[in-house]
Amino acid sequence: MRQKFIAGNWKMFTNAAEAERLATAIVLAAGNQTKVQIALCPPFPYLGIVAKAIQGSRVALGAQNLYPAKEGAFTGEVSPAMLADVGCRFVIVGHSERRQYFSESDSFINRKTHAALAAGLKVILCIGETLKEREDGYFKQVVDFHLSAGLVGIDAAKLADITISYEPVWAIGTGKNATPEQAQEAHQFIRHRVAQLLGQPAADKLTIQYGGSVKPDNAASLLSQPDVDGALVGGASLKADQFLAIVQAGS
Ligand code: PEP
Repeated sequence: MRQKFIAGNWKMFTNAAEAERLATAIVLAAGNQTKVQIALCPPFPYLGIVAKAIQGSRVALGAQNLYPAKEGAFTGEVSPAMLADVGCRFVIVGHSERRQYFSESDSFINRKTHAALAAGLKVILCIGETLKEREDGYFKQVVDFHLSAGLVGIDAAKLADITISYEPVWAIGTGKNATPEQAQEAHQFIRHRVAQLLGQPAADKLTIQYGGSVKPDNAASLLSQPDVDGALVGGASLKADQFLAIVQAGS
């Protein structure tokens, strides 16, 4: 049985005081529960603050990005080893905002995945189609491409450190979530493709999160789908009560 995994992507929001308050509130309410794996992904400058706030709890720290090199003259970038050094266990790669605003390609995202794994980080690999791609009837082809390109060079053993996050772009930050049936269809397809690529046992163990306007009122129906193993939460992760209600829905 796969454990549910709820991660909060704080994007470029909060300040130091808010980051501390938010992380502390989540730890106080859910820091010791064992049913759901929780990760918080604050902006880079607040990783240390959140690391301190979650210390000793079961809540994990994640980062929103990395640069795929050990070190070097890459002004403004952050290496996977640096993230591990400040306590990160997870890192998000392939988010649609990075694909859209920073022109990140699937091969670059694949390099990030390998670099993160080599540094001992677990990866949350985001994939998903745009509204036009869905309306034109080829969302599965897009998801399949993101998935297979993102997993180049990944074997079944390495997959154990990867969570796939299915995030239809049209549902991110729009308030328009996929229906539970749409999410299940996509997740089932992803698991089926992973089974073809890396074998059924690896696919059966794979955690597949849904992301896209997950809120307290839709979380339970999404998370009750057989292939929906958790959620990557943006907007609602910035309010402790909303995030905790989503965690509760996954319990
Ligand atoms: C996200 O940023 O990954 C996301 C799913 O955002 P939201 O929950 O706000 O749609």
